[in-house]
Amino acid sequence: MSIVVTKKTNRLGLTLADYKGADSTLCSGCGHDAISSQITRAFFQMGVEPHRVAKLSGIGCSSKTPAYFLGRSHGLNSVHGRMPAVATGAVTANRHLICIGVSGDGDTASIGLGQFCHLLRRNVPMVYVLENNGVYGLTKGQFSATADLGSRLKTGAVNDLPPIDVCKLAIEMGCGYVARSFAADPKQVVALLQGALAHRGTALLDILSPCVTFNDHDGSTKSYQWGKEHEELLHEIDFVPHFEPLPEVEYAEGEAVEVTMHDGSRLILRKTARDYNPTDLPQVLRLLRESRERNEFLTGLIYYNPATSDLVSRLRLVDSPLATLPESAVKPGPEVLESILREYA
Ligand code: SF4
Repeated sequence: MSIVVTKKTNRLGLTLADYKGADSTLCSGCGHDAISSQITRAFFQMGVEPHRVAKLSGIGCSSKTPAYFLGRSHGLNSVHGRMPAVATGAVTANRHLICIGVSGDGDTASIGLGQFCHLLRRNVPMVYVLENNGVYGLTKGQFSATADLGSRLKTGAVNDLPPIDVCKLAIEMGCGYVARSFAADPKQVVALLQGALAHRGTALLDILSPCVTFNDHDGSTKSYQWGKEHEELLHEIDFVPHFEPLPEVEYAEGEAVEVTMHDGSRLILRKTARDYNPTDLPQVLRLLRESRERNEFLTGLIYYNPATSDLVSRLRLVDSPLATLPESAVKPGPEVLESILREYA
């Protein structure tokens, strides 16, 4: 039976609704929800069969999000910072799986940094989405290892440590697809996700995803100080303010646009130029350094190296997923084990 592709259905005859997940429980206006919507859209537009997808995550607000997209796919919420190990096992056991991992800056750049590096080094075939907000949202907004030097919490605390640039780290670890984007730029996020899905090997998307509750404003009248001066305390209660999502941004290649965040702070986004060559490594590293020096947030496909060989190719696995092979094929028997042991005698 041939599938009729319409505006509402993709090449599989599925609708966007077939790629949705459960309702989000995150704070209203959280950047992570915008990214989940774009993941839903990217998989729909790419016509990926939902049952072939494995959604993996660690711990944190971002790691809750796989529940909010691709409700018909496989999913596992792993231990804090350990999603890379689970992903490595999953794609090795079944090389036909399409793996997407969602992580946060704490999960990736602190507790999971070692795992992240080895995932990149092995070039595990997967899309790795880092929802980067510079704070630990789940534990009430402490600085994470990607927070910029000199940035302030709404408490007024100043970050006195330099950030880990995960894109730079990924390039240095041999990652062949490295991109950075902004949750309020859905067009770019979808395009980068689609490119990532088409890439063989690890594809890293470092997406600025504002935490509207803990890192999006400073100086609230609901602050500890204000409350201490004005409130007659009956009991301790948390207040999660409601914010509208940031307006969407559109800007041309090579141009910069200034975005005003909820707290009035400004962010300068610069899109890579039309003639920018993401395969030119010296140019890529120079551009990353220059954008940091100019205090700009460079977005687009930063680095691309199609020549990298991914983990499952290097392991020379058979084409049939290991998980589907009969026991006789994966368990050779005692005589084989004995002959191997004899070689060590
Ligand atoms: Fe999102 Fe921050 Fe709320 Fe967590 S605490 S759900 S990161 S807005």
